[in-house]
Amino acid sequence: MASLLNRLHAIEVATRPEHPDLTRALAARWEELPAHVKQPNQMLGKRMTGCEGTHGVFPKCNLACTPCYHAKEANRVRTDGDHTESEVDAQMALLRKFRGPGQHAQLIGGEVSLLGPDDHARALRAMMRHGRKPMSMTHGDFDYDYLVGLAIDPKTGERRFEHLAFAGHFDSMMYGRRGIKKVGAEVELNPYRERFCEMFRRLEREHGVTHYLAHNITVTPRNVEQIPQLVRDCRHMGFRMFSFQPAAFIGNQARWKDSYRAFSTDEVWKRIEEGVGARLHYNAEQVGDVRCNRTAHGIYVGDRYETLLDEDDPRDARVLQDFIAAFGGMDFKDGSRRLRTARCARAIAGHPAVLRSGAPWAARLVKRLGGPIELARGNTKAVTYVMHSFMDAKHVRPAWEMLQRGEMSEDPAILEAQERLQSCSYAMAHPESDTLVPACAQHSVLDPLENLHLQELLPARPPAERAPA
Ligand code: SF4
Repeated sequence: MASLLNRLHAIEVATRPEHPDLTRALAARWEELPAHVKQPNQMLGKRMTGCEGTHGVFPKCNLACTPCYHAKEANRVRTDGDHTESEVDAQMALLRKFRGPGQHAQLIGGEVSLLGPDDHARALRAMMRHGRKPMSMTHGDFDYDYLVGLAIDPKTGERRFEHLAFAGHFDSMMYGRRGIKKVGAEVELNPYRERFCEMFRRLEREHGVTHYLAHNITVTPRNVEQIPQLVRDCRHMGFRMFSFQPAAFIGNQARWKDSYRAFSTDEVWKRIEEGVGARLHYNAEQVGDVRCNRTAHGIYVGDRYETLLDEDDPRDARVLQDFIAAFGGMDFKDGSRRLRTARCARAIAGHPAVLRSGAPWAARLVKRLGGPIELARGNTKAVTYVMHSFMDAKHVRPAWEMLQRGEMSEDPAILEAQERLQSCSYAMAHPESDTLVPACAQHSVLDPLENLHLQELLPARPPAERAPA
């Protein structure tokens, strides 16, 4: 009898739209958010607990970027697979504890492909063990053999992963890429972007490993005018997400080259819209603070793009609220088809209004996309546009230090930084203090000391080989 009850309980839990740990983590996240972001379209604490990233796990990089958000000591730290795996494991365990299962986590630091393929695979596995959805962040300057080495076990020839997610950072402020050490204009990098996407298509063709690719770019006065062309050139390459990051004064000061505040984030977004050829309704849904993040989920039908939600249509606002009320943080890719169907059925039964608002929304979206005949041609794909605006270290440092003391600033710039840090959607874990910190605080405040420590622990060259001081 007890075992039957246990089994029924397990089925009841498995068919909930959200894992109970995620339900708890979402509630805690919502609770800690400041009032100004607790809007009906807020995703944090409702749909997701936030994005995550690793730190101090492989600080070294073999390209040079301006700006570079890492401390100048980062390149003096040796890449070491054992260190990477144990640090990733500890950081992900803490994120699982505070943020629940199923959240997106970036394997990020210096350059991930400086890890050997086996070590890279170990790090991804550690992330998955703790219920994270990993994405490897890279400059993309590696060969197909490396990708195969990561995806396929060399001893057994079996797939290590069914699916890989990568973000390739390509922009003209990066120096040292093979074949194009110095880049004059974004367009010159298009063959390298195409090559990156083609490696993953080939991996899928030859080994059946599927992929999700994001494209990252830092935006400065040097390339801001090139954004529309970049979007037009790259939208059909195979990237499913384009993330634009207006440059900030963080990290290695020797790499601050331009007047990064010469344009506004509105101007960046306008240029993305110009390239897309459509309005990107970022106010339809919000992730944390709008001064940090803008997100537009949408669909291409050929070259025509429409965001899923129209921010001016109150019926679309209603459908988002119904969707969240029904499905919450449900992961539509987790578990078997049968399990997902059961979860969907429970979600809809719990909030049937989602069908009443959802069906007309779908009809409106199809119409905006050109009608059912256009869609039936099959030339459709989902693409997300994102802008993430890091803050300058000169604001983050005092803002963070005051927050640690429980104080709010009266200086408007510092107060803004504090509000954004409190609503942060991009966390890094510190197992040694059982805390999560915003990536801005990590890079502006904590990285330099952390890298000095790592430099001692993992010197880039053995001490005997070092040049005399
Ligand atoms: S506080 Fe910094 S790291 Fe966090 S979401 Fe805002 S810009 Fe990003």
